[in-house]
Parts: sequence; C-alpha cells; structure tokens
Amino acid sequence: MKKNFAIIGLGRFGGSICRTLVESGHDVLAIDSNEDRVNEYMNIATHAVLANAQDENVLRSLGIRNFDHVIIAIGEDIQASILTTLMIKEMGNPYITAKAQNEYHGKVLEKIGADYVVHPERDMGIRIGHHLVSRNVVDYLELSDKYSLVELKVTNPKFFNKTLFELDFRQRFGLNVIGIRRGQEMIISPAADAVIKVDDTLMIVGGNKEINWLENQMP
Ligand code: ATP
Ligand code: ATP
Ligand code: CA
Repeated sequence: MKKNFAIIGLGRFGGSICRTLVESGHDVLAIDSNEDRVNEYMNIATHAVLANAQDENVLRSLGIRNFDHVIIAIGEDIQASILTTLMIKEMGNPYITAKAQNEYHGKVLEKIGADYVVHPERDMGIRIGHHLVSRNVVDYLELSDKYSLVELKVTNPKFFNKTLFELDFRQRFGLNVIGIRRGQEMIISPAADAVIKVDDTLMIVGGNKEINWLENQMP
C-alpha cells in the first residue's frame, strides 16, 4: 500500500531515506531549513519545502498531522529535534521515526513518544566492528541489548556437509538458524535435515554471547 511520508532534515541520513522511499513508489514531503538542501531534493522528493520545523504554525500549514509517517532526521541541533518530535507527537496521528545523535538524545526521544528511535552512527559502528573482528560476519543487527541477528559465512570445515541435526546446532551453540544463503538460493526456516555446505552464509538469531562465540569459530 502506498503511504505518505514527511522527512524533516535532508542530511545524509534523511536524504538517503527520501531517495529510498521515492524509489519504492511512495510520496515524500521533504522539509529542510537550508535552501541548498531543499534545492538538491526538489527533483527527487514528491515535494520539497524550505521551512523551519521547530515552528508549530509551519507544521500545521504543511498538514503534518495528516501524514502516515514522519521521519525526524535532524541530528546536530538536538533541541530542534526534540521540539519538533514533541509537537508532531501532540498532533496525534503520524508514526514518528526519529534519529538520535547519542544515547541521551535517544532516551529523550523515546520518553516524549517517538515510536521508533534510530541510532545510525552507533548501529553502523557495531556492524562494521563485527565485520572487522571477523570478515565472515556479513551483517549484524542488534535486536535488543541481549539478542542479535547475524549473517555469518561458514568457513570452518567442521560444519561442512553436516545437517543441523548432526551438528545439534541449537543445543550446542544456543542459536537458531533462520535461513541459509547459498549463492542466489535461500533456504528459509531450515529444518533439522538441512545440510550446511562450503561457502554457505547462515542467518542466525540468538544471544550476543553465543553469537560472539560462534563468530570466533569462523577464522
Ligand atoms: P547527517 O548526519 O544525516 O548527514 P548532518 O550531520 O549533515 O546530517 P544535521 O545537523 O544532522 O546534518 O541536520 C540534518 C538536516 O536537518 C540539515 O540539512 C539541517 O539543515 C536540517 N535541519 C536542522 N534543523 C532544522 C529545522 N529546525 N527545521 C528543518 N530542518 C532542519
Ligand atoms: P529441540 O530439541 O530443540 O526441541 P526439535 O525437537 O524441534 O528440537 P528438530 O526440529 O527435529 O527437533 O531438530 C533436531 C535438532 O536439530 C535440534 O535439537 C537442533 O539442535 C537442530 N536444529 C534443527 N533445526 C534447527 C535450526 N533451525 N537452527 C538450529 N538448530 C536446529
Ligand atoms: Ca551527522
């Protein structure tokens, strides 16, 4: 279903979201207080508007309350980010995604009712960190502070040509395999008889400790 989005702040983060949403066929109102940024998105967003989102009258005249989803992608100016989030929250309707500059900023955004708070720099740092620790970690996504999802390339011959049952995977590693990627092919929800082959990438969900342990088994 086509949704309408408003993005406030067209830095690298807000700008990337804008391009992605438009490419996926959604309507996007792009707002920034910087004229150069607005000009840059004039031909990309459905509408691009030069406005200060901290001004409640501006938010009203743009009809922000009628949007399905508002992304607040203001970073440096934490006060502007918080005030804008608060005013849009009070309007009731839109689902609010807000970008946090740091942990404290993120806590405040959650407290005042942002529906989804993202920490792009922190999360990207974690992902790249895991990739640097082991180049076999293709991707890493924190699900909570205890659990993560990891895409891990199998390089340890101990795993080759064995089924999940033979490896007793869940019991031995305390982890669940939710997918196996083999080239272009993808085995979703593998059963006990699924075989792990050379160069497979496993999608695994589980505790961070268990994941770290398994990462270290893939030199
Ligand atoms: P990124 O890290 O995503 O690249 P940035 O660091 O380049 O962002 P930020 O300071 O985080 O820039 O702000 C993102 C955008 O938000 C900027 O283009 C800025 O002009 C815009 N912005 C800041 N305050 C407001 C405001 N009150 N109303 C509208 N836009 C704003
Ligand atoms: P469990 O003993 O965990 O309840 P189960 O009774 O559901 O397993 P099966 O699904 O047949 O039995 O799986 C047998 C064993 O194979 C499991 O105990 C587990 O070690 C392993 N296994 C099967 N599927 C997976 C999976 N998706 N991820 C990790 N391990 C699996
Ligand atoms: Ca920034």
